[in-house]
Amino acid sequence: MDNDCIFCKINAGLIPANIVFRSNHCFVIEDISPKAPVHILIIPKVHVKSLSGIPSSNDSLSADIFDTASKIANSKNLNGHGYRLVINQGPDAGQTVEHMHVHLLGGKVLGEMG
Ligand code: AMP
Ligand code: ZN
Repeated sequence: MDNDCIFCKINAGLIPANIVFRSNHCFVIEDISPKAPVHILIIPKVHVKSLSGIPSSNDSLSADIFDTASKIANSKNLNGHGYRLVINQGPDAGQTVEHMHVHLLGGKVLGEMG
């Protein structure tokens, strides 16, 4: 836990948020500022700043992130229409919270990336 990290605080119950799902390694919340009708964040429980901070040996965490994203997409009935997973990594991508997380966006036709 990083005491200055908003996502660590949410996971510890120190900041209120609607945690919609917990897996072994992740918790899932609705984005506070949604960019699409469905905008979910899949967040590792462990404080990892960025993708490169995930140890390559930790394949169970990597698998859990994708498994959780797939489960959430299913639960939101997004498989037929489609959805997008996004990781903003570092300043050029506009990462604002330095605790690695995956955005799941859907429920509308999404614009082009980049
Ligand atoms: P990123 O820009 O990729 O680092 O994404 C950070 C995301 O966290 C943004 O989409 C924010 O809207 C979202 N966010 C920040 N604070 C909260 C919060 N307290 N609860 C839910 N989502 C949040
Ligand atoms: Zn954190």
